[in-house]
Amino acid sequence: MIDLHTHTNVSDGTDTPRELVNKALAQGITVLGLTDHDTVGGWDEATSALRPGIDLVLGSEISAQTVDGISVHILGLLFDRHNAELAQILTDTRDNRIGRMERIISKLNSAGYDITMEDVQAQLSQGATLGRPHLADALVAKKIVKSREEAFNELLHNSSPHYVGHYSPTPEVAIEHIKKAGGVAIIAHPFASLRGRTISVESFAPLVAAGLDGIEIEHRDHSTPDRQLCREIVNTYGLIETGSSDYHGTGKLNLLGESTTTSENWEILAARATGGEVVRA
Ligand code: AMP
Ligand code: FE
Ligand code: FE
Ligand code: ZN
Repeated sequence: MIDLHTHTNVSDGTDTPRELVNKALAQGITVLGLTDHDTVGGWDEATSALRPGIDLVLGSEISAQTVDGISVHILGLLFDRHNAELAQILTDTRDNRIGRMERIISKLNSAGYDITMEDVQAQLSQGATLGRPHLADALVAKKIVKSREEAFNELLHNSSPHYVGHYSPTPEVAIEHIKKAGGVAIIAHPFASLRGRTISVESFAPLVAAGLDGIEIEHRDHSTPDRQLCREIVNTYGLIETGSSDYHGTGKLNLLGESTTTSENWEILAARATGGEVVRA
């Protein structure tokens, strides 16, 4: 089973990279993509946790935003982590998330919610990419809401009055830099409308021109019509289709291997990458 999109506590998942590798092996995953948000911080631990039976595909899920303000997540796999421009994009995004979190918190405080930056930091492992899920966890810890889901639905969703964005590259820039760093670029859950506005079919042409390799079609946040539309786009542009769990540990219901990529499609993608090798024990 090939699962190319997962998270650890180096971003908003709950397992350590070592725990993720162990669980994936136990679940029968044979190729595991590690794609924490805007960071490569889990790569070394995951690599050192590898055992025979599982291949590791190092990557990151880059938070991008269109000029119209629509959030787009781009999975970069097998890129060179030493590529300075790509590393800078990841660093800028992570740095900007701190001031952004302070602004969301101050909006919540103005609305009467008792929550502080310290409460949020307490939900985060050292050096992890800070995100709304950590704020959600802090709101749960303070018994303001019951779950991450409720926190997002009531207070933290993209159209909430408390929402604040953070610096993000455009999806075209994210794709260009993944490709320059020798990686492959896959758009994650492009039509996951529960999270907010999604991009139009027309906006795929510039993404393909920038070097987009594939579309994550099989994902729990895609409806059957969403998947159908994705397939039409894949056919139009000759893209590669993937499927993945977007596992976040106990942070989300998503289970390892619940959606997968075929070995045929993975082999096409892997053959295109020049920035990094699949890691084997
Ligand atoms: P941020 O990057 O800080 O804007 O937070 C976005 C992250 O929050 C996504 O990567 C998801 O992991 C998570 N997320 C977004 N929408 C929801 C939701 N409705 N319920 C739970 N988690 C969500
Ligand atoms: Fe996430
Ligand atoms: Fe995502
Ligand atoms: Zn993800």
